[in-house]
Amino acid sequence: MKIYDGVIDWGIKRARDSKMIGLGFHSVIDGLVKIDPKKIGNLDLAIPQKFSDLPDSIKFIDDFWKGLIFSFSNGSALQLMIDSKEVYEWIMKTFGTGTLRLGGTSANMAKGLIPFPFEKILVYVYPLKKEIANLFSNSKNLFVVGNNGLDHPINAYDGEGIDAIHWIFEFSQGQSITVKGQTYACPRSNRFIASWNPANSKLEVRDPFRSYVIDHAKDISHFLVSGFHIMQEVYPDGETVEDRIDELLKFIQTVKDKNSEIRFHLEFASIRRDRVRRAVEEKLFSMFDSLGLNEVELSWVARDMGYDEKDILNLDVERISQIISEIMRGDLSRVHFHTLGFYLLALKGDYDLESQKKALAFASLAAAQRAMDGEINLERFKYVLDIPEKYDYKEWERDGIHFILFPTKVVPSPKITVGLGDTISSLAFVLG
Ligand code: AMP
Repeated sequence: MKIYDGVIDWGIKRARDSKMIGLGFHSVIDGLVKIDPKKIGNLDLAIPQKFSDLPDSIKFIDDFWKGLIFSFSNGSALQLMIDSKEVYEWIMKTFGTGTLRLGGTSANMAKGLIPFPFEKILVYVYPLKKEIANLFSNSKNLFVVGNNGLDHPINAYDGEGIDAIHWIFEFSQGQSITVKGQTYACPRSNRFIASWNPANSKLEVRDPFRSYVIDHAKDISHFLVSGFHIMQEVYPDGETVEDRIDELLKFIQTVKDKNSEIRFHLEFASIRRDRVRRAVEEKLFSMFDSLGLNEVELSWVARDMGYDEKDILNLDVERISQIISEIMRGDLSRVHFHTLGFYLLALKGDYDLESQKKALAFASLAAAQRAMDGEINLERFKYVLDIPEKYDYKEWERDGIHFILFPTKVVPSPKITVGLGDTISSLAFVLG
């Protein structure tokens, strides 16, 4: 079976036939800082040995260093939220903003979708300041809701400033940092992300976006929700993550009441805080049609359910499908698991299997081409078609669920990997 045959033309046509696609609720500025170990000097702190020794969030300057050194000395990606204004100000003073780039799961999805002929991509951006508005490319199919209705962000921003920033500290293999006189070399190029976003951390759906979406629900076909990883367990004013998720659910229900045809997708992302993650699992999984997540994210879900997370991280497909079956006991009818080398798609009920497979193939080509070049360029999809897949295609049924193990294209030396998961999940969902 030639799983990639004809999918490029198919995907373009499918995009052209689409309606409005909604993306909320997390767009932010990324600040890229290349770590210069010489400037860091000799640090005096205990390096966390295990993942579980890490702080849940950054409350003190030491927490920042712990996260950075852990990520650096293990060569592994890590994201922590900053919970203290003092630490935010200290990082800004010490490192500056770095190179600004558009980030956040919703904006990343927008970046991945606008190069294709989708009619309207509607993205939630809060706070919509001049700096972030300027980072959106000048695409005709990209919109935010401004005071005069749909508009490009650059015509709709409100004020100036960088109120929220996700610092991406990048380091390279072979660099070394000294802690307590001992030198630690970085085994693999990677990144440590420290995020400051109190303005949007409640994932509040504000006007005019809110009323526009409710009033125009009939025009929308797909809505992708993400950003839970920036939520807090308890907010300074006493509100809890459960309160906030209930509010979000009310909004989703209102939109569903206006148009029951809209498909809702939840992109999990890396939710480090236990209570936030559990609230998402318990309150949201059964309210969405579709869920997207990678192996690390599913390993946390598995751990929350009492399973050994290592089985998932070791890519034990039997165990992965078992966990997915359990998640799908409620109304969730589609789960798209992605990892390096393959996707596992689980479907329950009335899905067009051919479309779903083609959508996976299209997402795989887009991710590989974006990894190769840094930006999506449809003209260059053909160059990744020749990359051989390393897994075998497989389909099976289990507990009334149809599983598809789909081998993907993997680019040997990627230019970027940030945001690839968002591209994969959003394209496969809206095209499928
Ligand atoms: P995430 O960690 O959720 O952003 O997603 C990363 C995903 O990007 C992986 O699960 C892979 O499917 C995909 N990916 C990562 N590196 C490459 C690569 N070099 N070529 C193609 N796809 C990649």
